[in-house]
Amino acid sequence: MAALRDLQVDEAATVKPGSSTRSVHGGTLRQKAYGSLTTPIVQTATYTFENTQALIDFMESKTWGDGSEREEYGRYGNPTIAAVERKLAALDNGEDAVLYASGMNAVTSLLLSVLPAGAHIVMTNDCYRRTRQFCQTFLQRFGIETTVVPVGDYDALEAAIIRKKTRFIISESPTNPYLRIADLERIADLGKRYRVRTLIDSTFATPINQRPLEWGIDFVVHSATKYLSGHNDLLAGVIVGRADRIKALRDSRGVLGGMPDPQNAFLLERGIKTLGIRVRQQNQTAVAVANFLESHPRIERVWYPGLESHPDYAVAAAQMDDFGGVISFEVAGDLRTTSKFIDALQIPYIAPSLGGVESLIEQPALMSYYEKSTEERLALGIRDNLVRFAVGVEDTEDILNDLDQALAVI
Ligand SMILES: *Cc1c(COP(=O)(O)O)cnc(C)c1O
Repeated sequence: MAALRDLQVDEAATVKPGSSTRSVHGGTLRQKAYGSLTTPIVQTATYTFENTQALIDFMESKTWGDGSEREEYGRYGNPTIAAVERKLAALDNGEDAVLYASGMNAVTSLLLSVLPAGAHIVMTNDCYRRTRQFCQTFLQRFGIETTVVPVGDYDALEAAIIRKKTRFIISESPTNPYLRIADLERIADLGKRYRVRTLIDSTFATPINQRPLEWGIDFVVHSATKYLSGHNDLLAGVIVGRADRIKALRDSRGVLGGMPDPQNAFLLERGIKTLGIRVRQQNQTAVAVANFLESHPRIERVWYPGLESHPDYAVAAAQMDDFGGVISFEVAGDLRTTSKFIDALQIPYIAPSLGGVESLIEQPALMSYYEKSTEERLALGIRDNLVRFAVGVEDTEDILNDLDQALAVI
């Protein structure tokens, strides 16, 4: 069973599968129900028992004879969802994974499940806006305080930890939109020294480019809506970590109710099979785009962790296998000049999100921060001329040519 997964986690193994082999086969049972090659979609809300004795046997053991769990009710478990969870655990080199209805549902369910009243969170800035909003508004109502520190300032991070009160350090890596890279080993070390759990949102990296658990981080979260599903057609989220902790989260998912749909789980697993080749293509295009933009006279500044000019290049080079498919940059010009450039592009769609096969572009000042004034945006570090470009899997040359012609328009 799951031979490739075993090979992958065994350091002594002679065969070390590459990222595409792991994407296709990682965590996958070789023999599935009905002899089906693909994972069957078990589209059911509940499960039946042949008779009362079968029910009693289930209550006594909770497992089938073949070791796979049978289920009782759709909110507690589903074989299609369990299959994608095994795959996600294998890819991030974790013991287990739990799937949720969205990335935000994963983050909120984790924090609601583990934080006691009166707890304290330390979080790095330049992070997903809704995660921060959840901590600073929702959790605050339950007496849970959040301190936000600048990403990359480890003295501030350590100083913000309150003994016996701080329960979580939360960071993204890479961050949004400046692609800052958190030093995972340092964060894991602080967590261990102060007995604080650590959570890394690794959505922008994918398990192909970065595996935070290997650096000692406790929990990894991904918005599976992005690269993992890869086709901009579903929402899902996942948390990966130690088996006992993930089991507790799976139990609490049965209470909080953030169960994903089996159809979506199937589509997600289908998407993940091409994760390796998609992300490799996106890495390759992104570095070409970053280099092209950095040498272009109409571009003021490029933020890409694979460029030596990026403040976290050294950390990124040490802890990531590659640098990802998102590039942020500042156009030489104001809000309107930047919009003109974006409107002149022919390949990328104007849309939030990232990680799918289609290139997506956005001007954060007009997308995520529209209701704020230029001054308020500047206070949050968002300049009017900032652009976030998430490359898809289109041909690198075509994307470069498209950027070139659009920059010639301004
Ligand atoms: C999109 C995103 C989320 C939220 O995920 P959803 O699937 O949209 O709920 C969280 N973190 C990061 C870094 C994201 O990009």
